[in-house]
Amino acid sequence: MHRYPYSMGEEIVGEQLVDPFGRTVRDLRISVTDRCNFRCQYCMPAEGMQWLPREEILSFEEIERFARICINYFGFDGIRLTGGEPLVRAHLPELVERLALLGVDTALTTNGATLRMHAKALAEAGLKRINISLDSLQPERFLELTRRDELDRVLDGIAAAVDAGLKPVKINAVMMRGINDDEIVDFAEFGRDKGLTVRFIEFMPLEAGDVWNEDLVVPADEIVEKINKAIPIEPIVRGSEPAERWRYLDGKGEVGVIASVTKPFCGDCDRVRLTAEGQFRTCLFAVDEFDMRSLLRSEANDEEIANAIVDAVGTKWAGHSIGQVNFIRPSRTMSQIGG
Ligand code: SAM
Ligand code: SF4
Repeated sequence: MHRYPYSMGEEIVGEQLVDPFGRTVRDLRISVTDRCNFRCQYCMPAEGMQWLPREEILSFEEIERFARICINYFGFDGIRLTGGEPLVRAHLPELVERLALLGVDTALTTNGATLRMHAKALAEAGLKRINISLDSLQPERFLELTRRDELDRVLDGIAAAVDAGLKPVKINAVMMRGINDDEIVDFAEFGRDKGLTVRFIEFMPLEAGDVWNEDLVVPADEIVEKINKAIPIEPIVRGSEPAERWRYLDGKGEVGVIASVTKPFCGDCDRVRLTAEGQFRTCLFAVDEFDMRSLLRSEANDEEIANAIVDAVGTKWAGHSIGQVNFIRPSRTMSQIGG
């Protein structure tokens, strides 16, 4: 496990967090709640989710302290809030403001259902980037997939995000064979019309129940081919982000695909996660968690917590092995981990 000095201008201010495979970790995903107002088929069962008791959920103060340690000790430069549905957590803009004041790029992933109510306050609090999940543009199918009749509210939430000046607004669409993959080109057109970047996501084995199988995964290459046939695109050189990006040749925006299953991007992974109850994870698919809540609620000082982060990152593995015989499915769903 190595830590390298990092600097801001001339000054050495901390050390980079580099995992055993040489990847610098600098992106933190924080789940603010395990609760949700939707019940997406691929994420939660219709009934019977056991919610965490409130006292087990990290307070805003605890989240802010943990984020500050990651930023001050290791130079983290991105934080994304997620869940469950982050907008069901009361006073979320207050947390966004606390994090934005730490000087880090703060983003949010939401299902968008209540975004009309919150978009302005979030933007004023310092939120910049927002990803809104939307898996069908057809009301009946939307209802079937989310078990909620709320397509219009989500579309209005997307409009509210744009009105509030959040930029970029991205749409996350999980594609599933025979379920919504006939909407690939519709989604591309939707993004172009509204000036939004649509990112197609391969279905991953993280859902409640046992729905996932490889046949349900729509490979990124197939998605790109379908779009290119309808509306020609060309690749954009990729950075460390998970999405492969493509631009439309007519200049009307871009589209992304996240090929977590068919072309894992683990080699460029720079992220770690904190669950709503303060468990630290080095991968979505990790089987081990590190209890940061106990430390945050103990007498431990910031340095001790920073050292615990270093130890945890020292266990980050090279990559997940979805689809291979040695793959172990995490015992928790995406909503419990924080997608
Ligand atoms: N509730 C918010 C939302 O839906 O955007 C944030 C949490 S949700 C778990 C984060 C993202 O994970 C969403 O874009 C959702 O579509 C995606 N997701 C959930 N389960 C998934 C799965 N099994 N495979 C791929 N993506 C999944
Ligand atoms: Fe809720 Fe998001 Fe999971 Fe859907 S994907 S059930 S909106 S947490």
